[in-house]
Amino acid sequence: MIGQVNMKHFQFKALYQDNEWVAPAYVSVDQEGKIAYLSATPPDSITNIEKVDGYALPGFQNAHSHAFQYAMAGIAERHSGTANPDDFWSWRNAMYQLALNVQPEQMEAIAAMLYAEMVRHGYTSVAEFHYVHHDLTGKPYSNKAALGERLIAAAQKAGIRITLVPIFYQKGGFGQAPTKGQQRFISPDMDSYLDLLEQSQKAARPYAHASVGAGIHSLRAVAPEVIKATCENLPTDIPIHIHVAEQLKEIEDAKVYLGARPVEWLLNNLTLNENYHLVHATHLTEAEVSGLAKKRANVVICPSTEGNLGDGLFPLASFQAQDGQWSIGTDSHIGLNPLEELRWLDYGQRVTTHKRNSFYSPQQTDSGRYALAMATFAGRRAMGHHTNEFFQIGDHFDAVVMDANFPLFAITSLDNLLSTIVYAGDCTATLGTIVNGQWVVQQQRHHAYQDIVADFKQVIASLEYR
Ligand SMILES: [Zn+2]
Repeated sequence: MIGQVNMKHFQFKALYQDNEWVAPAYVSVDQEGKIAYLSATPPDSITNIEKVDGYALPGFQNAHSHAFQYAMAGIAERHSGTANPDDFWSWRNAMYQLALNVQPEQMEAIAAMLYAEMVRHGYTSVAEFHYVHHDLTGKPYSNKAALGERLIAAAQKAGIRITLVPIFYQKGGFGQAPTKGQQRFISPDMDSYLDLLEQSQKAARPYAHASVGAGIHSLRAVAPEVIKATCENLPTDIPIHIHVAEQLKEIEDAKVYLGARPVEWLLNNLTLNENYHLVHATHLTEAEVSGLAKKRANVVICPSTEGNLGDGLFPLASFQAQDGQWSIGTDSHIGLNPLEELRWLDYGQRVTTHKRNSFYSPQQTDSGRYALAMATFAGRRAMGHHTNEFFQIGDHFDAVVMDANFPLFAITSLDNLLSTIVYAGDCTATLGTIVNGQWVVQQQRHHAYQDIVADFKQVIASLEYR
């Protein structure tokens, strides 16, 4: 009941709800952080309403993260000075050096800092594609999910929801034994992976804001017959994440080893459906684009990382014309701003097609509205949460609140506001981020910033990495 004690009440200048603004918007949140009331009129006989001069949007969904890579963001940006500049594969060698050396408490401190920064940028959920499982010598910890548990603890500290996706990594490449650089990643067979998954589910259980998905690192990292068997043995109600078709070399290798391109192989060998989240899917043929769209499989696009690593551009226009479903992720965390990810995705299409406004469907021609709905709903599915309303009675209240006094927002009509936010906003234009009905960040300040940043600085210093 709305009048109960310990309930929180907000009044926002407006709240964006499924293609329309509720203005003003009154939201009451119960003790569990769930929305109990949402209306343009205030709840009866309530006086303790927090008045917020801002526009509430659903919290962003970060559908792809490798937390430890945050420690190397920005320090792999030097040209070798030779005719052979750095590429994805040489970057990967540098990343393996970090993966080989990071200790559990260091992993937790890096992830907590990263996740706190994600919340500051408006993300309220993260899917952590987690493949560093073993100790520094490559031996499994007595609790196989020990490092996954550290990531969940980091998310808890940072106040972000986490979907931990423990990753099955078996091979060093197509038909190859794992290398020393990969020794912390390896599950030798399906049973060992399913055990890791079970341990991860056990680790997540005590946490209210953690869930678990499943994942295959890539077609090059697990034998094809094992991928098939594993996917047939996974629970049917959790999201399944796979890296796919990020690099041209990977496509050529797949053609030789599998006799098919990566996405072509997935379409022919797995029963893809809306639980599948194909990360990157950068290099696709028209038939692959249509196949994915038809199966309702989702694509997770990570524009700032894909740009940074020189991957290529996802064929958005064609995928979208077939009602293909996509979300965004920050992957290596070279960029953490969700608005920038959306802009990159759109502008990549604009500069190659010489046309404007790539985001649209026949039902939704406003680019900002289209992008927010797609990234939110497919992003939530990537966390295992299937819904088609932004804010719903009974759902946890997660929101990013844009500052109504930011110059461009202050002068814009509600009709044009969402695209103004997406195309001309940034995270300095937010009042803060609410997760589970509580402010976690306000005025750019995370509530646990002091502790989190102190640990982070100390860990980075001890890693002697930067
Ligand atoms: Zn990735």
